[in-house]
Formats: sequence, C-alpha cells, structure tokens
Amino acid sequence: NKIEDDYVMGEALGKGKFGLVFMCRSKVTGAEFACKTLPKGEETVHKEVEIMQHLSGHLGVVTLHSVYEDAESFHLVMELCSGGRLMDEMTKEGSYSEHKAATIFKDLMLVIQYCHDMGVVHRDIKPENILLTASGKIKLADFGLAMRIANGQILRGLAGSPAYVAPEVLIGDYGQKADIWSAGVLLHALLVGVLPFQGDSLEALFEAIKSMNIDFHSEKWQSVSKPARDLLERILTRDVAARITAEEVLSHPWILYTERTLK
Ligand code: ADP
Ligand code: MG
Ligand code: MG
Repeated sequence: NKIEDDYVMGEALGKGKFGLVFMCRSKVTGAEFACKTLPKGEETVHKEVEIMQHLSGHLGVVTLHSVYEDAESFHLVMELCSGGRLMDEMTKEGSYSEHKAATIFKDLMLVIQYCHDMGVVHRDIKPENILLTASGKIKLADFGLAMRIANGQILRGLAGSPAYVAPEVLIGDYGQKADIWSAGVLLHALLVGVLPFQGDSLEALFEAIKSMNIDFHSEKWQSVSKPARDLLERILTRDVAARITAEEVLSHPWILYTERTLK
C-alpha cells in the first residue's frame, strides 16, 4: 500500500534536519498519528526504524506504528505526541519549579536507563527531541543518531547538538554516559532557564564545554536547592568514570525526595 491509501495527511507538526513531520489520520480507524518523512538515500533510516522497534517496550519511547516506502521517501507513522515539544514548553515557562523539573527529569532518566539497558545510546538528547503527550507525559523521540552498542563498546565521531554535546564526544571515545551529560545540560535549563555552556562561536562553545565550571554561587543558583545542585554537579562531571549513571540518578536524594513532596 501507499501511505496515501491508508492515511489522510494533515497539518505540519515540525521539522528537523532531515525529517518533515505531519499529522495524519488513518482512513480505517480515524485515529491520528504523526508521520515523519525521510528522503531516500539516507541509509540511516533503516537504523532509526530498527532502533525504534527494538525500544518498543517502553511507554517513554515514541511508538513506531508502521513504515511506508515510495520512490523518493520513507514514511514513519508514529504515535502522535499532541503536547508538542518540551522545548516549546520550556520557552514558555522560563524555568520550572523543582517539583516539576524533578518529575520530568525522572521520567527522562527512566527512558534513558531503558535505552542503555537495551544497548542503545541516543546521542541527541535535547528538548527538541523530547515530546509530550496530551496529558503532559514525556516521550523520547528522534532515534536518527542513535546507535546500538555491544557491552563496553566505544563510539567515536562527533554527533549530537553543539550545546548538549558531552566533552568526551568532542575529544574522542565515548559511550552511554554522553546521554547523561546531555540530560544534565537539559536539567540545568529546567532549573535556571538558561543553557550551562554558551559561546559566540562553535569553537568558544566547545571550549566552554571542555573547561568551564559552573559557578553554583552565582545569583541564579540561590533559589535552587542543594540536592538539585549536587545532582547536576554529579552529572556535568567531565571525568566519565566519575559521572553518575541513569540508575544512580534515579536513586539520588533530589529525585527521591522531590517525588514524595507535594507541589
Ligand atoms: P529530525 O530527525 O529531523 O530532527 P524529529 O524526529 O526530531 O526529526 O522530528 C522533528 C520535529 O517533528 C520534532 O521536533 C517535533 O516537533 C515533531 N515531531 C516528531 N515526531 C513527532 C510525534 N510523534 N508527534 C508529534 N510531533 C512530532
Ligand atoms: Mg530531532
Ligand atoms: Mg533525527
């Protein structure tokens, strides 16, 4: 079947480096989905599809429903995340209450832990790739840069988005902990509303990532709790071996404590 036989295309939902994403509706059931169209010749499409199928056992991963192929493109019919991107919610909110930040961050860590347990490194954790359901639950999307790695296997080669990239990715060998760093960059933005590492040029940004330490005594940190700062410090640790894992993040006091307190 062609995709036009089975679905009616709707409004545009978003656009990334390669993908154009539209809403679509099943002609059979009337149910709504998101359709990501990727041009052919992109060999990574097969990998993206394969990894999404491999990770289908977790509610926090965007579900791949079906795949169509025509002369020019692949069409990935996915679960629709009608709450949009976490990115846009963050732009609206500025910074989050610690309770809300911890709730989102815990859910993100649960998905990342699942990916890592399944032998996958996402490599592009950022709020443009974290989507929200109608009820505000997060879903990890965009496995276009994701890699399956065997136990202890090491990756090389720059991948990801400049502001979120881990220092070891800039230098050489890396693995799953690169995702933890990127999530830490996101946590920084959730807590204080700005990205931790910035620069006027890519060079300056990468230099900051490799060497700039966060000043937790600065004014913007005064209203942030000590456990939150402690967790962020353990995540944005340049020494990969010392950086905490997804599992350790999930048992950190800030995550455990915030969960038990009411807003
Ligand atoms: P790219 O690989 O090109 O970055 P993404 O998979 O990140 O493509 O999708 C691009 C954008 O499309 C996302 O940032 C989001 O705005 C939108 N989008 C992607 N998948 C969905 C989905 N399942 N539901 C709703 N919007 C989506
Ligand atoms: Mg993307
Ligand atoms: Mg992609």
